[in-house]
Amino acid sequence: MIGIYIHIPFCRRKCPYCDFYSVCADGKTIGEYVKALCRNIMFYKGRGIKADTVYFGGGTPSLLSAAQIGRVIGAVSECFSLSSPEITLEANPCTVDKQKLEGYRSAGVNRISFGVQSAEDEELKFLGRLHDFETAKRAVCTAAETGFENISCDIMLGLKGQTLEGLYSTADKLCSLPINHISAYMLKIEEGTPFDCDEVKDSVADEDLLCDMYLQTVAQLNDRGFMQYEISNFAKPGGESRHNLKYWHGEEYIGFGAAAHSFFEGKRFCCPADMKAFIADERQEKLVLEEAPDRVEEYIMLGLRLTEGISLEKIKAMGGEKLIGNIRRKAELFGKSGLCSFDGDRLRLTPAGFLASNAIIAEMLDV
Ligand code: SF4
Repeated sequence: MIGIYIHIPFCRRKCPYCDFYSVCADGKTIGEYVKALCRNIMFYKGRGIKADTVYFGGGTPSLLSAAQIGRVIGAVSECFSLSSPEITLEANPCTVDKQKLEGYRSAGVNRISFGVQSAEDEELKFLGRLHDFETAKRAVCTAAETGFENISCDIMLGLKGQTLEGLYSTADKLCSLPINHISAYMLKIEEGTPFDCDEVKDSVADEDLLCDMYLQTVAQLNDRGFMQYEISNFAKPGGESRHNLKYWHGEEYIGFGAAAHSFFEGKRFCCPADMKAFIADERQEKLVLEEAPDRVEEYIMLGLRLTEGISLEKIKAMGGEKLIGNIRRKAELFGKSGLCSFDGDRLRLTPAGFLASNAIIAEMLDV
């Protein structure tokens, strides 16, 4: 079964660290975008494609009203065969209230992901966020009261002025909220964003501190019952994001909206990051990125992001036998430094290994 991704490229204000495709827009434009989404989804009608996850990402999907989200979910259920779907909506804490959250639930949303980022208001100001922690806490608690059983919060590591103690306290406060999932990301200065300047670069955590922050957070969240299942993702039992797991398991998904990516019928493609063209075109343009991605390479690259790791038997079955000798040799080497572990047929990176995952994966694929 495939996943459906819906990109909502609107934000109230652009955060200075963000390089996702999102723009500010008025209500009329948002309404036209929703129409274009439904129109594009309709092209899949009658094909009998089965799906079991829908993910509204952005941008800020919670800028859409419950009725608009309901229309998009309605179009998806009319055109795809949905089976007990997980329907996630990313939300900015200052864009929701009880009524809106109830509306989302009635529309079918059953998982909500809040961009909390920090429990320290100074750090939130540094990030240019519109909410303070009190607002975020209220939004999360209201979502739980409304009946959401699957709630995720994002936190960010490496912020200006953030200490190990301060980060510990942020994670502690989040763990006490009624949530079952946490994503912990390290601040990355993206090229071309307002954060891409010496003043900011000199004020954020250096690499050593960032590594300490990551390892501290992994241990802390695991202790609190949020078990790590991916480099940046932690969940209570059963709280893992079914949609995001599809990406890491190499399963197929179709993306709708400006800048949305898809992997469908064996091909990877993306839509141009152009909201106006998306609204104007009868059917959105899709640019093929890869005709036939190397499935073995992808399995290794994506699988090593997960704590479940990769299976050598599976690599063999997929036709990647020539890689096995090299993987074993490199794993032995990295294992001595505590970066990975072998458990029978399964190779997994440790939290320290996740910090060097790009280099490790490159070595594993270098034959
Ligand atoms: S709200 Fe999220 S998507 Fe929008 S600009 Fe800020 S970080 Fe980017």
